[in-house]
Amino acid sequence: DDVAAGAFAPGGASRWWLHHSLRALDERLNAIGSRLILRRGKTIDSLLAIAAETGARAIHLTRGYEPHAARLEQCLNAAARKIGIEVRRFPGALLMEPETLQNRSGQPFRVFSPFWRALLAAERPRAPQPAPRQLKKPKHWPRSDNLDDWQLLPKKPDWAGGLRATWAPGEVGATRRLTELVETALTAYATDRDRPDRPGTSMLSPHLHFGEVSPHQCWHAVDFAMERQPSLASGSASFLRELGWREFSYHLLHHWPTLPETSFRPEYEAFPWASDDAEARTNIAAWSRGQTGYPIVDAGMRQLWQTGWMHNRVRMIVASFLTKHLLVPWQTGAGWFWDTLVDADLANNAASWQWVAGSGADAAPYFRIFNPILQGQKFDPDGDYVRRYVPEIARLPVKFLHAPWTAPTEVLAEAGITLGETYPLPIVSHEQARRRALDAYATLKKGGIATDSADG
Ligand code: FAD
Repeated sequence: DDVAAGAFAPGGASRWWLHHSLRALDERLNAIGSRLILRRGKTIDSLLAIAAETGARAIHLTRGYEPHAARLEQCLNAAARKIGIEVRRFPGALLMEPETLQNRSGQPFRVFSPFWRALLAAERPRAPQPAPRQLKKPKHWPRSDNLDDWQLLPKKPDWAGGLRATWAPGEVGATRRLTELVETALTAYATDRDRPDRPGTSMLSPHLHFGEVSPHQCWHAVDFAMERQPSLASGSASFLRELGWREFSYHLLHHWPTLPETSFRPEYEAFPWASDDAEARTNIAAWSRGQTGYPIVDAGMRQLWQTGWMHNRVRMIVASFLTKHLLVPWQTGAGWFWDTLVDADLANNAASWQWVAGSGADAAPYFRIFNPILQGQKFDPDGDYVRRYVPEIARLPVKFLHAPWTAPTEVLAEAGITLGETYPLPIVSHEQARRRALDAYATLKKGGIATDSADG
């Protein structure tokens, strides 16, 4: 659609999810006497055509916060008004509407902690409504496209095997994940959420993105569990804070709609990123295929490719590696994530990439450059995560697993590894890359880095 997503049309993994999510929604509607009507084409024309065919007097929609959704809504309002159709918009995707939270100077928040304090101090998010048990049928069903004709699923090749093995798109799958969180993961969430080798997080992100579960449902389920079992307090508070980052990202996107394209801190637009030369292209290819020679980076990139998802800690490590070790602009990494993540989300992806790159609101400072070896040793201490996704080095003792090039020749031989052949040597040296990044950053500092505005 011309008014819709444009450059941010759904990527491959999102299209796979969308197919299954729509099918699941249709099944759910069938169970209560209704069905889903699918149409392809310009959104507004299609909606108004269905309204005309059914004699509808109003269009009800859930508010979207992406710039294209806001534009679409504006155009729909204008077009519908002309022909006497009412458009009724409802909140649903966020705990709080972006207009309702402001700092002391009446401005949108740019810093997370005061934003979060303000959200916690505001009215408790409303409790979710139960789903309707029955829906009234129209006299005649309007025509619907066949979902398969939309060709959202990959065919040649079918790369979605790992996605099918990992996910159950739809409300039932979402509810199952939320139940698992409350019944098991919440206990150790505060500590395990940083451990990619453990199933320590909710894996609710694609379900939240596609609206299969709402943040209100998550909030109340977690709050209720905590009330019944006070020992869950720390895990619950930590989980809710993550939902808070989601809110913060959406609020940022609403107030700064260029967030997915340009650096929030304008001085980063002049950052001396590696140009689009052959070396940069080779590095980007190695990064995206999980062939950098740094096992924790490679494990993350392969988890992404195989399952459409990557653990948050590892997302931070691979994003830092791309923007700092390889000096590749954050937009390039965000683009790869956009195509490969099942939870690809304009607000969360843009805000998180900018956070890691140092160019975002309340971002990690650029000079905080993750050491991929130490990160691996700290957060995957037994090496289970790396062994799972980088099987060709699985036989290395854990002592060398996060830096295979430090292993003695006989240890490598015993583990069946020939560096540079069966597994790559590091594409950059950590120390040299770190110095190069800091030098690049120093050129920016001369221009003056803006400091955080005082939100508190
Ligand atoms: P949990 O730890 O269980 O968190 C619960 C929910 O809170 C998540 O489902 C998600 O909706 C939200 N959340 C958690 N962390 C963040 C965060 N840092 N920022 C915003 N929301 C958060 N998340 C996406 O949903 N879509 C993206 O496209 C995306 N891109 C990212 C890119 C980078 C470079 C980084 C560092 C993070 C990105 N994140 C993104 C945030 C985070 O990594 C994922 O939300 C999280 O890993 C999803 O797993 P989970 O559902 O098990 O999270």
